[in-house]
Amino acid sequence: MVSVAINGYGTIGKRVADAVAAQKDMKIVGVSKTRPDFEARMALKKGYDLYISIPEREKLFQEAGIEISGTVEDMIDEADIIVDATPEGIGAKNLKMYREKGIKAIFQGGEKHEDIGLSFNSFTNYDDSLGADYTRVVSCNTTGLCRTLKPIDDLCGIKKVRAVMVRRAADPAQVKKGPINAIVPNPPTVPSHHGPDLKTVMYGININTVALLVPTTLMHQHNIMVELENPVDIEEIKEELNKTSRVMLVKASEGLASTAEIMEYARELGRPRNDLYEIAVWEESLNIVDGELYYMQAVHQEADAVPESVDAIRALLELEEDNKKSIEKTNKAMGIL
Ligand code: NAD
Repeated sequence: MVSVAINGYGTIGKRVADAVAAQKDMKIVGVSKTRPDFEARMALKKGYDLYISIPEREKLFQEAGIEISGTVEDMIDEADIIVDATPEGIGAKNLKMYREKGIKAIFQGGEKHEDIGLSFNSFTNYDDSLGADYTRVVSCNTTGLCRTLKPIDDLCGIKKVRAVMVRRAADPAQVKKGPINAIVPNPPTVPSHHGPDLKTVMYGININTVALLVPTTLMHQHNIMVELENPVDIEEIKEELNKTSRVMLVKASEGLASTAEIMEYARELGRPRNDLYEIAVWEESLNIVDGELYYMQAVHQEADAVPESVDAIRALLELEEDNKKSIEKTNKAMGIL
């Protein structure tokens, strides 16, 4: 049983904490908070020891009656590995502390590949992180691209991908982010960072992406066009995606015609926080025209890369040499379809 600490208990951190706690071969030894807010209280209620990332704020926690077990540095001393889920850019700064402490660490997609040196996806390049000290789980959008493009590449080869990424403007709890009344090309330049990011885990893939922000909080939506290497029947593609782990085909004709309805489906599944770890591909959107495959998919940004963080722990600590075995263990513990 390995000991895992979560530095940054926010949208991603709290989900990774619960996912880790559900595994048989790992346990949570602590989570860190910057403020004594409701999430800090909830973490204690769940039985996670709480550590503070800003030691000067100890008094605030005391005044709020929230018990802390020490600082982030104390938490690191208790752990075999850190999952850093701090906001974009802070993880790279924390790397220095992890190096000094001699602890392995997993970072999230907000960090730059160059700052961490290695990126991770459970399906495309698990082996490269075996025994490594640090790796970065690619972003929610890049994880979504990996999940569906990898099985298609394995089935019939990919010549070139073009993808249009329609991104949620903010997560549901983010009250200060927008836009609330605009469609924003983001970035307005081509390509967006998603294509280059995919190349950090799916080597040699020829891809270009453009991205825009829209006023929604629920999910991202991707429109993907794939020039195929070898001829294939659309039914074979459907079959392949159907049997791919962490991917699900959904039918607009069955009432799942939008991201809102897909999130409603996640609520019906009774998942914690209504999380949808799987990438939802609209079955009706799958079509091949002149040797080019078209499809549309939806990505629950708060949840889809969480199982990948669990697999990354197994890779770095060499708990499982075979990615398929890790994926199976993670899926079983998290109830993934
Ligand atoms: P978040 O703001 O919801 O959570 C970050 C947490 O870290 C907060 O609780 C914050 O208080 C805490 N924190 C801030 N500074 C800290 C510090 N110095 N030390 C320790 N904790 C600190 O952010 P998030 O959405 O969970 O994003 C975390 C990472 O995951 C980012 O790299 C982000 O790009 C990536 N990511 C986010 C999403 C998403 O949709 N939210 C999806 C995939 C990846």
